Amino acid sequence: MTQSGTGSEARTAPGTQSATPDRPRYDVTLRGNADGSRWTGRQRVSFRNASTGPLREVYLRLWGNGVDKCGTATGTPPAVRVSKVRGGTASRPAVNCTALRIALPKPLAHGERASVSFDVSITVPERNDRFGREGAFRFLGNALPVLAVHDAKGWHLDPYVSTGESFYALASDFRVALDHPSNLKIPATGRTSTHPGRPGRSVTVSVARRVRDFAWAAGPFRTAVETTPGGVRVKSYWAPEASATGVNLTREDGAAAVDRFGKEFGRYPYGEIDLVMTSEFGGGMEYPGLVLLGTTEEGSAVVHEVAHQWWYGIVGNDEYGAPWLDESFAQYANARFYGWDTRDCWSEVDWPSDRTALTNSMAHWAAHRGEYHLVYTAGSCALADLERTLGADIMARLLKRYAHDHWYGVSTTAAFKKAAQSMTDEDLSPFWKRHRIR
Ligand SMILES: [Zn+2]
Repeated sequence: MTQSGTGSEARTAPGTQSATPDRPRYDVTLRGNADGSRWTGRQRVSFRNASTGPLREVYLRLWGNGVDKCGTATGTPPAVRVSKVRGGTASRPAVNCTALRIALPKPLAHGERASVSFDVSITVPERNDRFGREGAFRFLGNALPVLAVHDAKGWHLDPYVSTGESFYALASDFRVALDHPSNLKIPATGRTSTHPGRPGRSVTVSVARRVRDFAWAAGPFRTAVETTPGGVRVKSYWAPEASATGVNLTREDGAAAVDRFGKEFGRYPYGEIDLVMTSEFGGGMEYPGLVLLGTTEEGSAVVHEVAHQWWYGIVGNDEYGAPWLDESFAQYANARFYGWDTRDCWSEVDWPSDRTALTNSMAHWAAHRGEYHLVYTAGSCALADLERTLGADIMARLLKRYAHDHWYGVSTTAAFKKAAQSMTDEDLSPFWKRHRIR
């Protein structure tokens, strides 16, 4: 995420329970209304129990209810509703209607697969947000229910924060069919193709493998497609009101960034990325294979958001527990792309208190919103300082190797510190202390 204008330790200790349920497979069929603001249909998710113990339940995260919670005082129902659950027994929604427990009919043994299915109803809220709208355009980020993760820390049922991200998901496969009026263009996670449907309607089918989330948008976008020299299909979708200069800059930088980060961190594996540009969207927001970008004549945060394809997407992390693992890394990549001078930038960091650490969780940042910029500023400066400490070549090798070792997996602060330490004979303990990487 990028804001307008501007952790915890490892969540999984070595040798403990594997994160589960893993290898989720989502099959979704949704039908959109005339303006793409309401989607209803059926969703099925199958999964495997990767933990050594029996799996007795799963949780769906209904992140789309994050802002309005269980509905408004005027009686509006929750934005995302699940009903007619099969394959398990649903409890009442919890965590302000962002979590739904589904008890499995019998415990699932290690390595076994099971599935649950349910009706889903999604109503896009009346606000300009990642799950929201701008004019005739609809953004469906975090709208689709996804499985929560259980690991050595137990179930991750953290609250929604609008300051940043609370999201934590394992790499999953999606097949999503969206039936919509033909006048709406539908950018979406994955490789998409659109076919004629009933009269006046089209069906956009998207297949995405090893992604952590599935997002889409809808509206009368203008579109263009180009293939980068590195072979990635960049599909641009923009609102006619968006600055033509900004759209062109975003397309150029987006295409250059996906190739450059592919060289730096490992080839972009999804084949296609969608850049969704509107004039009033606040900052930018990343989803696998799709980024939402507020676009002015100065361009957009496309480079930062494309960097998130690796840092959060391909190399996952618990975005609530350790947001620096995605934001600082994306911002460091962004600073390198633009050739910003980062010499000594960390020395300007003014830590507000002893309790403020770069590695703090969203619980801290949500309670100290004015400090959250440190994850971007001090965080990218810390990584730039690590580059100077190790040397540019070794830093490049570290990031490439680290991305390779955690490809489709989960990055933790402890794992990154260990990987960095393995690259040098110098004791990095004082370095971590100075940059408050705890
Ligand atoms: Zn970000």
